[in-house]
Amino acid sequence: MGWIEVVCGPMFSGKSEELMRRLRRAKIARKRVQVFKPALDDRYSADEIVSHGEQRMKSEVVSSAKEILEKLDWRTQVLGIDESNFFGPELVEVAAQLADTGKQVIIAGLDTDYLGRPFPPMPDLLCVAESITKTLAICMRCGNPAKHTQRLVESEDLIVVGAAGAYEARCRRCFEPGVPKQESLDFARPPVPEPSRTK
Ligand code: ADP
Ligand code: ZN
Repeated sequence: MGWIEVVCGPMFSGKSEELMRRLRRAKIARKRVQVFKPALDDRYSADEIVSHGEQRMKSEVVSSAKEILEKLDWRTQVLGIDESNFFGPELVEVAAQLADTGKQVIIAGLDTDYLGRPFPPMPDLLCVAESITKTLAICMRCGNPAKHTQRLVESEDLIVVGAAGAYEARCRRCFEPGVPKQESLDFARPPVPEPSRTK
């Protein structure tokens, strides 16, 4: 019997760690496991998924969701797919097809973008999934649970692949949709003008 599990939340919330935890358990249960990640995400390693806490697991790189079907060994029982937000709408159909053919599909990805908008194809994946887990990070401003990914560098692009320091986790209260005003960035803070003295 196949099914779809989704792990979603902001950056730094432990999605990759949770994905790896589930995949490790599947391996302990002697299930056949394959792990996929999108070619776009080559930040830390070409052939591994890597968490921000430096946990690693071997993975295969694909440039589209369809390619998962091509690279699939049909003896595989459990599939892990990281960074699902890089795959586009095609992933929904592919995941459903895999689950229909008896595979356990575990998908991790961002649920919202840098403006706080739902990040495709996550909303549709949540609808077709049997199980949904939302992970939260710690707000880097105040320490509360954080559901947002704050972009710290200026760009209108939906995807800016995480250069170090380009993003941080923020809670609902501290989140500033889009790029925060440059004054709030320490390194870009303009010198404070001396108050002019009258008298
Ligand atoms: P995700 O896949 O959601 O980006 P990862 O699984 O790669 O998250 O990384 C989670 C790890 O990141 C945590 O276990 C912790 O070591 C580290 N980390 C760094 N910044 C934060 C933060 N603001 N909140 C929580 N964890 C953080
Ligand atoms: Zn906060």
